[in-house]
Order: sequence, then structure tokens, then C-alpha cells
Amino acid sequence: MVTRKLDVVIFGGGAAGLWLLDTLVRHDYAALLLESEALGSGQTVSSQGIIHGGLKYTLDGIFNRSADAIRAMPDLWRDCLAGRATPRLTDTRVRAAACHLWRTDTLRSRLGMVGARRGLQVRPERLEADQRPAVLRACPGDVFLLAEPVICPQSFIADLFAQHRARCLKYNPDGLAFEQDADGTVRELRLRDAWTGQSLGLRPRAVVLAAGRGNVALRRQLRLSTEPTQERPLHMAMLRGSLPELNGHCVDGARTRVTITTARDADGRTIWQVGGQVAEDGVAQEPEVLLRHVRAELTACLPGVSWDGVEWSAYRVNRCEGRTGSGRRPDHEVALRDANVWSAWPTKLALAPRLANLLREQLPAAESDAGAGWEVLDGWPRPAVADPPWDEEATWYRDL
Ligand SMILES: Cc1cc2nc3c(=O)[nH]c(=O)nc-3n(C[C@H](O)[C@H](O)[C@H](O)COP(=O)(O)OP(=O)(O)OC[C@H]3O[C@@H](n4cnc5c(N)ncnc54)[C@H](O)[C@@H]3O)c2cc1C
Repeated sequence: MVTRKLDVVIFGGGAAGLWLLDTLVRHDYAALLLESEALGSGQTVSSQGIIHGGLKYTLDGIFNRSADAIRAMPDLWRDCLAGRATPRLTDTRVRAAACHLWRTDTLRSRLGMVGARRGLQVRPERLEADQRPAVLRACPGDVFLLAEPVICPQSFIADLFAQHRARCLKYNPDGLAFEQDADGTVRELRLRDAWTGQSLGLRPRAVVLAAGRGNVALRRQLRLSTEPTQERPLHMAMLRGSLPELNGHCVDGARTRVTITTARDADGRTIWQVGGQVAEDGVAQEPEVLLRHVRAELTACLPGVSWDGVEWSAYRVNRCEGRTGSGRRPDHEVALRDANVWSAWPTKLALAPRLANLLREQLPAAESDAGAGWEVLDGWPRPAVADPPWDEEATWYRDL
């Protein structure tokens, strides 16, 4: 069996793992990423791709820790997307440079918008009637433009993978074994590839679990408690058909009634991904019940839009995070240390850069030879990039 010494082994190639890999490689770490499925499967490729600047977290008028953590993210990502900063994300598709924000016309909703404008780096800019996109012209309340970019998460994952292909391996979790010291320190991990029969030993100085939902099983295998993890389910809606381009949130007080993002499927058809409060409310609902509720909410939030010929579908996905105790979303990114094992959750796609910086501050300094010895990995399989939910097998409804 070939054995390789290295600085860091990362489990999981979603936003968190790939951004961390990029950061470490650029700081001369001998780092390797192990992916058990397809890159970005789980949350990242299913997400809506909004690079939040904190507005959602200030709708109640309180400028809290979440808003503070995330406020610098749109500028940081914009620099990467334009190739002015690293990682260079010039092959990541930008679906929209900004989001729209509009409200339903209730008093609660008006108060929310006052809070939204306080203390933010990304302030919503009120649009005059003739500046509004056609799809929002019939909305009774104010419409704002919010400089939060929307990216295509699949192309973002593909972009980072293309830059680090040599350092990303696909492995079979059934062939993974850890050798640990009594205090839990991982001394060695062994991989056996069932397809090729190859074995590989890795002796990392640190291990980072950035596997989203997979962190639970990995922590169990490492005899670590799963107590610090939590999952918050969503039941998301997808619409397919002749739909206008729209990326943004309809807010009502501190609630985001719906968040809509627009994508294209593999056949070039327009897709609306719909989340927000409807996806939280819909967790206990059957798909058809959820979709009827979504249609009613969209009709209330977007007066005048016709759903003729539109097809409707739903998918379930869990947000995987560090536990908060209250069961609510953590305020920011989370990294926990047990001996030489770190468990990491970005909490939001937008916060992946902050998580990578936090981990780099905590991980031991680079020591192994970052440039040499990678040829032992040449024969190992590389992972694919996950497909978004609308390109997966799904039931699409015409009549609800
Ligand atoms: C529906 C939805 C919409 C969202 N919208 C937004 C948004 O608009 N903006 C925003 O900022 N955030 C959003 N988020 C949150 C964001 O998607 C997540 O915080 C982020 O993508 C988490 O990234 P991750 O890398 O930690 O996890 P994941 O994306 O889940 O990646 C985990 C990776 O680990 C791999 N893996 C699993 N098990 C193992 C194992 N045993 N070994 C190795 N690899 C393994 C998986 O295959 C996957 O590649 C959204 C989340 C959801 C669910």
C-alpha cells in the first residue's frame, strides 16, 4: 500500500470543502479533498446561489451577529467572480448581478423594510415605477434593488474543481478506515478502492470534515459525538415553463414569503426555484399540497403573472449546520475541533470564504512538501459534479 504524508485531508467537496482546499493550496499546504458522491450534492448544488449581504437577517429591525458576519460577502465574491481576487471564479455563471426585493402591502411589511435599511453594507435601492422589471410592475408596494449577486452553484463547484482536479479524489466510504490515538488524534486513514482494488494510506496532520450531512456518519466513525450537528429541512418548489427572469425576495414584515431564483435546465428551459417561508411551512406537506400553497403565495406576491402551461415540482433537502441549542440557524460559520479533527459548516454558501479563513487560522502551519508525491494519486478516480434538482428524475405536475 502506498502511504503519503500530508498537511490536511478534507472530507466533502461542496462549497465549504472546495473553498477551503483552494485557500490551503494557495498557502502551500499539502492538502487533499475526498468526495464520496458527486461534488456539491447535498446542499450546494440544490441551493439558490444568492450571495447574501445580511438584509434577510435585519428585516426585524435588529442588526444582529448574522448580519455582521455576512455583510462583506457580496463585495468579496464579486471580486472573485471578476477575477480580481482569489479564488478566481471567472468560469462561475452569474445568474444576476442583483436581487429584487418587494413587499406585500401590509403594515407589518412596511415596518420590516425600515429595519432592512439600517446598518447594512448592501442597502436596498428603491426603484421608480418605470425602473421595475415587467414581472413586478403590478406589485402594490415598493420594489427595491439589492446588490446581492446570484450565482449558478453548479458552475461554481465545477469552476473550483477544474482548478484543483489533481487534489480531489472520489472514494468509497465502505473502504475507509481510520487509525486513531487514544486521545482521538487521527494518525492515518486508509482508503480501499473497490473498483480498482488499489489501497492508499494518508498520514495527515489535520482532518477537516466538511461533508454537510455526511459529517454525522464521519463523526460517528471517528467515535465523536453527533451532538454538535443539526439539520433543518426544507421542501422547495420548482416551476418550469414560460417564465420571466426573476431573482429576489417578497417580504412581509420579518418574513421572506417567497425567494425566487431563475435557472435553466439541461434542455435550456426556464426554471424557477422557490424557497423562503413556503419551503419551511411545506416540510410536513405532501408535494401536491405544498405546490398548491406555493401557487397561492406566488399569486399573492406577483399579481398579474399567469401560470398557464407551467409545470410544478418539489424537492426535499436538509440544511446541515452546527447545533445552536434553539434549533435555529447559527449566526455564522462554525468550526469545531476535536484533537486533530475539525468539523466545519459554513451555515450559508455565501459564508464559505469566512469558514475557510477561520479554519486556516486554526489549522497547524503547512509543513509537508506540497509540491511532491502526488503522482501516487494519478490512478484514483475523480468525482463528478452533482446535477441540480431540476435535472434529476422528478414528478412534474401540470394541474394542481
Ligand atoms: C434549498 C437551499 C437553498 C439555499 N440557498 C442559499 C442561498 O441562496 N445562499 C446561501 O448563502 N446559502 C444558501 N443555502 C445554504 C448553503 O447551500 C449551504 O450552507 C452550503 O451549500 C453548505 O455547503 P457544504 O459544503 O457545507 O455542504 P454540501 O453542499 O452539503 O456539501 C457536502 C459535500 O460532502 C459530500 N459528502 C457527504 N458525505 C461524505 C463523506 N462521507 N465523505 C466525503 N464526502 C462526503 C457531499 O457529496 C457533498 O459534495 C441554501 C441551502 C439549501 C438547502
